[in-house]
Amino acid sequence: MTTQILDGKIISKEVREELKKDIIELKSSGIIPGLGVLLVGDDPASRSYVTAKEKACEDVGIYSSEIRLPSNASRDEILDVVHQFNGNEKIHGILVQLPLPDGTMEQEVIDTLSPEKDVDGFHPINIGRMALGLSAFLSCTPHGILHMLKRSGLSTNGAHVVVVGRSHIVGRPLATMLSQKNELGNATVTMCHTGTKNLARFTREADIVIAAIGRANTITAEMVSDGVVIIDVGVNRVEDATAKRGYRLVGDVDFEAIKPKAKAISPVPGGVGPMTITMLLYNTVESAKNHLSSGRSLE
Ligand code: NAP
Repeated sequence: MTTQILDGKIISKEVREELKKDIIELKSSGIIPGLGVLLVGDDPASRSYVTAKEKACEDVGIYSSEIRLPSNASRDEILDVVHQFNGNEKIHGILVQLPLPDGTMEQEVIDTLSPEKDVDGFHPINIGRMALGLSAFLSCTPHGILHMLKRSGLSTNGAHVVVVGRSHIVGRPLATMLSQKNELGNATVTMCHTGTKNLARFTREADIVIAAIGRANTITAEMVSDGVVIIDVGVNRVEDATAKRGYRLVGDVDFEAIKPKAKAISPVPGGVGPMTITMLLYNTVESAKNHLSSGRSLE
């Protein structure tokens, strides 16, 4: 069997070309889509995620404005920046790079975002609207996975999808989206987690396995059936003395062992990651379109 490799960079490029056209149209109507970025602290991984997102914005023609605060920034300083972005007409989407140095503040910061600019899709209003099947900003990673499947010709309609992981940013919203009665969903969904007894019993029955776990090699070849579709969300560092940085990035599945059995599989890196960034751009453009249709561009 020839395994289809779900290349997130290629699919992202396709979506980004479409976005560029939308952005040209928006610009001709006087709107430059804008993303406000808040980075607190100096965590190198967060810094590099923010740089990648800003670079992606620039490539498609989205304006981005970054505010950086020190890791000891107070609650008020952080919330002030969110309020500034909420009130800024040039900003259509807000990205608060998580995790914050003080994790206990995260929910309050998310709750303070204007739901109309919550392009990460984390605000309870967007999550609630999504769960009800109403229009909403969909969280970028789950939304990116749905696009990746659809654009690769892999339908979820009637499929048994096993989602491993139930986090608020990946597993849970993804399972909800997949179960919706619409063209990106309509799947029969099983959600697994650390409380699941005999994980392999479920993954073996799946047409599609989506691993959002955060542990290398959790899904092995014995745990899946021939012809399975695998989406690997995990990003894990494993030591590698031959790599320049002393480590390499791998997903949650044993890619090399599963590949010969799979109908399709997404690699790490280069699979879900680029799709996540692309959906942030997508949501920012959607927000700018909403702004235009509300007539506020003429103010
Ligand atoms: P998380 O909040 O740590 O959640 C991990 C989930 O996996 C939890 O629900 C946990 O179950 C479950 N789990 C852990 N070990 C398990 C096991 N042995 N069997 C079954 N379930 C298990 O992580 P996350 O934020 O969802 O992220 C997951 C991974 O995706 C991470 O590697 C992260 O870096 C990556 N990620 C990648 C992208 C991207 O764009 N590529 C975006 C987001 C996240 P419990 O709930 O029972 O603890």
